[in-house]
Amino acid sequence: MASHVIPVAPFDLVLFGATGDLAHRKILPGLCHRHAVGQMPADARIIGCARSQMTPEEFRDSVASALAQTDCVDNLDAFVACLDYVSLDVTGDRGWDELAARLRDDVVRAFYLSVGPGLFAPIAARLDQRGLATPDSRIVVEKPFGRDLASARALNRALRNCFGESQIYRIDHYLGKETVQNVMALRFANALFEPLWNCQHIDHVQITVAEKLGVEGREDYYDHAGAARDMFQNHLMQLLCLTAMEPPSRFEPNAVRDEKLKVIRALDPVPPEDIVRGQYRAGAHGRSYLEEVGNPDSTTESFVAMKLHVSNWRWGGTPFYLRTGKRLRERLSEIVIIFRDPPHAIFPRMDNRRGNALIIRLQPDEGVTLRMTIKEPGPGGMRLTEVPLDMTFAEALGADVEIPDAYERLVMDVIRGDQTLFMRGDEVEAAWEWIDPIIARWEEAGDRPVPYDPGSSGPEDALMLMHRDGRRWREIGS
Ligand code: NAD
Repeated sequence: MASHVIPVAPFDLVLFGATGDLAHRKILPGLCHRHAVGQMPADARIIGCARSQMTPEEFRDSVASALAQTDCVDNLDAFVACLDYVSLDVTGDRGWDELAARLRDDVVRAFYLSVGPGLFAPIAARLDQRGLATPDSRIVVEKPFGRDLASARALNRALRNCFGESQIYRIDHYLGKETVQNVMALRFANALFEPLWNCQHIDHVQITVAEKLGVEGREDYYDHAGAARDMFQNHLMQLLCLTAMEPPSRFEPNAVRDEKLKVIRALDPVPPEDIVRGQYRAGAHGRSYLEEVGNPDSTTESFVAMKLHVSNWRWGGTPFYLRTGKRLRERLSEIVIIFRDPPHAIFPRMDNRRGNALIIRLQPDEGVTLRMTIKEPGPGGMRLTEVPLDMTFAEALGADVEIPDAYERLVMDVIRGDQTLFMRGDEVEAAWEWIDPIIARWEEAGDRPVPYDPGSSGPEDALMLMHRDGRRWREIGS
């Protein structure tokens, strides 16, 4: 099944931070793919901006050599012909007039801020002062969006001084993943699950985002952030929202984001005993967290697990267990819905029964598994066994279907003016408002995270968080 491509309108995309890691690893390769499949019109232009002094030709060469390592290679010449470059200091005056002279009035205009978060507000202000921010131009900001409620509010204020909310695209690239969008499709395009999607039928929900890597290359940033700020406040919270939200009346940006916001607002405060913070120690798989960040006294967590309650009619009494961490056994993201047992058992009790579960795998091997109970084959009575009803999307959809990278989808949505998969300002603030007291409690108490072995499923305490409720996590890498 080939994917359906609708070309977007002609555009000028100004990419601040065009020589940086994210631009070279994700944004430019993503755009190159969209160009290759015919989604970018012939007169689309990408204007790279960064501090480095170089000519447009040198920029095109550097992008071409970065993309030569990727599967974009066939389309490279045609794609780099769309690139331009302006050397510009976003905190000074150099380069802004050249940039203004390059922009066209009759095409979609988007500014992508792939620079450190400290530069978001100064760039927005300069775009405004120089009249480059037209009423329907768009501004895209990368994560992290603040490091607490106060800084997120200040950033929202700074952006809204220059742009309307409908022009601001806050990226959480998790929302651009096809499989994350599939959570909504599974729930709201099938009649099968929604009648069961509530506390009467669901015992609990597990959400895991596990990474195999440590903090490689991001030591300084990560040690000031930690798993709660880097992953929990944004990616895990978004997965929780998509799993727990009410069906929006339409698949339309504000309708979807209103429902997600209600989930965050319905979250109960979390008592300390329902939270586990971990930090990996040294092991066969490498150095300890403390050695990696070069800070022997660091109390930053590289793992966090929490038991959450969404206090509303649908979810009363059904806990959500969320965990994320680095240097775990496998790289894996999944949402696991564990259903309640049938109300009355007519068959003999099965050893090790785990019950019905719907497992939504976001990465790797994107797909869905429904764990069912069936009769064990053979004579000799009615013995039961559990089997997976398994669907891997790549197999189900056919070998020729390409699952685009999140950034490809998101940048095209910006040009189309579709904010559905971007976080609204109040959503980001609500997530900080909920998690801020939790982080403040750790910081005030000088809490030390508990150690865990690299290559494991995280600290023992995280296993206990479930065991004491008579439940268990799905194995990472099972
Ligand atoms: P980077 O340090 O590799 O690149 C920064 C870019 O900003 C460079 O092109 C640099 O020239 C430019 N820049 C810095 N100061 C400038 C100035 N005064 N004037 C003009 N240009 C200036 O950073 P990165 O890793 O590409 O990250 C960019 C943004 O994306 C950050 O906000 C980061 O948090 C976010 N992000 C990055 C990743 C990733 O995988 N790299 C993932 C998620 C989010």
